[in-house]
Amino acid sequence: MSGPLVSAPGKAFLIGEYAVLEGATAVVTAVDCRAHAQRSPSRPSHVTEVVEAAHASVSAYLKDRGLPSPGPVPTVDTGGFRLGSRKIGLGSSAAVAATVVGFLLAQAGVEIGGVDGRKVAYGLAREAHRRAQGGGSGADVATSVFGGTLRFADGEVSPATLPQWLRIGFVDAGAPASTASFVRLVREAAVTDPDPYAQAMADLRGASEDFLAALGGDGPSESFALLGRAVERHNRGLRSLQNLSGAPILTPTIERIIAVAAEVGLAAKPSGAGGGDLVVVFSRSQAALDVLGDRLRRDHGIDLLAALKAGADGLRLERHAPRCSRIAGLFRLPLADRRRAVAAACDLDIAGFDVLDSGALGLEQAEHLIENVIGVLELPIGVATNFRVNGVDYLVPMSVEEASVVAAASNAAKMIRAGGGFVAHSDPPWMIAQIQLTRGDSPHDAAAAVGQIEAERGNLLQLAEVVHPRLVARGGGPRAIEVRVLSEDMLAVHVVVDCRDAMGANLLNTIAETLAPRLQALSGWTVGLRILSNLADRRRTHVTARIPPSALASRGWDGSKVVDGIVSASRFAELDPYRAATHNKGIMNGIDAVVLATGNDWRAMEAGAHAYAAQDGRYRPLAIWRKGADGWLEGQISVPMAIGMVGGATHVHPVARLAIEILGCRSSAELGQVMAAVGLASNLAALRALATEGIQRGHMSLHARTLAVGAGAVGPEIEALSALLIDSGEIKQERATAILRELRKTEKSAAQA
Ligand code: NAD
Repeated sequence: MSGPLVSAPGKAFLIGEYAVLEGATAVVTAVDCRAHAQRSPSRPSHVTEVVEAAHASVSAYLKDRGLPSPGPVPTVDTGGFRLGSRKIGLGSSAAVAATVVGFLLAQAGVEIGGVDGRKVAYGLAREAHRRAQGGGSGADVATSVFGGTLRFADGEVSPATLPQWLRIGFVDAGAPASTASFVRLVREAAVTDPDPYAQAMADLRGASEDFLAALGGDGPSESFALLGRAVERHNRGLRSLQNLSGAPILTPTIERIIAVAAEVGLAAKPSGAGGGDLVVVFSRSQAALDVLGDRLRRDHGIDLLAALKAGADGLRLERHAPRCSRIAGLFRLPLADRRRAVAAACDLDIAGFDVLDSGALGLEQAEHLIENVIGVLELPIGVATNFRVNGVDYLVPMSVEEASVVAAASNAAKMIRAGGGFVAHSDPPWMIAQIQLTRGDSPHDAAAAVGQIEAERGNLLQLAEVVHPRLVARGGGPRAIEVRVLSEDMLAVHVVVDCRDAMGANLLNTIAETLAPRLQALSGWTVGLRILSNLADRRRTHVTARIPPSALASRGWDGSKVVDGIVSASRFAELDPYRAATHNKGIMNGIDAVVLATGNDWRAMEAGAHAYAAQDGRYRPLAIWRKGADGWLEGQISVPMAIGMVGGATHVHPVARLAIEILGCRSSAELGQVMAAVGLASNLAALRALATEGIQRGHMSLHARTLAVGAGAVGPEIEALSALLIDSGEIKQERATAILRELRKTEKSAAQA
């Protein structure tokens, strides 16, 4: 990379998106999905009208000041604005205008992070955006440049402050079904039905005023109640506008999100024009947002976009370029160059990669990890390429002894990339601690014991909170107490705990042990086991992918035939547990390799995955595949993800620490999303091979290398021996040993001759 690296955020409306048309105030917040601009010789720039207009604006500005004209347009990456192949309505074109202007100004020496620089950038980006888009209020561009949360009225921009107590979430309401301009339909309704239109606008305007009053209100309780009423009034106004204009503003999905939010005490409304896309939710706590996200996903298959944060920074210079996981020909490079390529792509110091040398986990460290240590077992660690999850690229460290796992995952990730990459969502990081209670000779029956415990839920939760104050300070902690009657003489009490970025086993076990005596006293039953459950079904990761048939075609196999073959293979696994076990083994090839590389507990992952696969009484595939209406292949996986970024071996093992740096994940949820994506990719690779030429061809050619090494081949002998083994058609250890013997004999006589 040469020159600056600049980024700008997207935006979402909080209130006033229709009322602003009539001069009322709108409130818009910057959201932390960012467009990046940089000069990248390896990646050509995609010159859109907005990019061109931004370049022209800055050129004119610099010329007026007698400064040299800027160089060519930069490369702009807007991956974060996409969910797979679908763009979400977060104002990406305004972010592109802001970031290109910012890049060119920064290159010319303008300080774009300061107030004056941002003002210049705003003026130029607004003009460019307006020219390219043929109009616009400037709200999008101002938010992308200034960041934070802004108020707009009559074209004037001023900062707005969000109160400390307010938490904002965004829900994906699906692709807008209508491409009609809702604003045009609404304006037409203003002419044909002026009175009802005025009434609807009065509601929307009043909603905006109440909303602003709530932001500046006294106490959180009253202010949140006022905000809730403002949002209700806004939705009422939207329903009237919908009836008048015929624009499907509040789709059935949006209405469902609003209703579920109300059920859990939260306020929700469409963000922007409606018709699908985004819904914004207002809450007083992250925990309540998590409850909503959990319910929407479980009961309605709707996703809270948990990674989208409101009030993001505006235009800024970045120190690190976003990772690019497309490193063509990585496998061909010598090992040292491969390390350098990965370090460069991740902007990491190559010196830190020394921990990958043999013996990085010293005996002394090993002694602290387990008992009776006599040495260290080493496994290879490789890096899978091509992964793009929620618009972000990841190079994925994988540790595994089996040939072809890393290559297959990389290859499948490339096919999935052709369809826009993986789309991933996570349940909240909720784990379950279990306390077993048995009746013994207690006079209380199960119903009575359950009643006693449930009546004390609030106090029990408080007691559980005291155990881990630091976890509570980080936004985690106990969330619910649930009692399950297993038989008339046995109960299981579940404490649901938000573990944030830890796997949580030790955290949960302490909570279980702390609550146990209290539960015994309350119920009169006897405490038995106190430990977490590894069936982490409250902490699942969900990943989907869509692949165009053309990306699946292979050696004489038509892409659409491959789609049919994979769909049939999926159905086989759905119908037959014998097949499902092998199907899931292929998924775990990928997941376990990342779990291991990042120092996580792969037994916990395995236990959780297989228990979940059998949860409805029959062992099922974790991932399934279907053919979409457009003929594309569609895959999805849901899998419990009891993994952490902190705790356990993640921080102790030097290679695990480096693996997490290479990934660049910032939360356990993000790490889990990459792991599940690798699982889905591994599954795709296996099914594609099975549905076409069979698994052996590709697998055996890689397996040949392992056998060559096993036979004692070194250096160039390895490649030569594996090629001869493949040619022999007999890929077996004895054959490898025999061929190596022959090979060495021939070389010796050649040398003597
Ligand atoms: P841990 O005991 O190391 O606890 C995590 C620590 O990280 C806590 O002290 C917490 O306060 C701290 N922390 C720092 N930043 C945090 C953040 N952002 N979010 C959350 N916590 C943060 O680790 P753990 O996750 O409680 O337990 C994992 C270990 O337990 C693994 O080694 C696992 O093998 C082992 N284990 C597993 C089982 C099982 O799966 N059945 C049983 C027992 C132990």
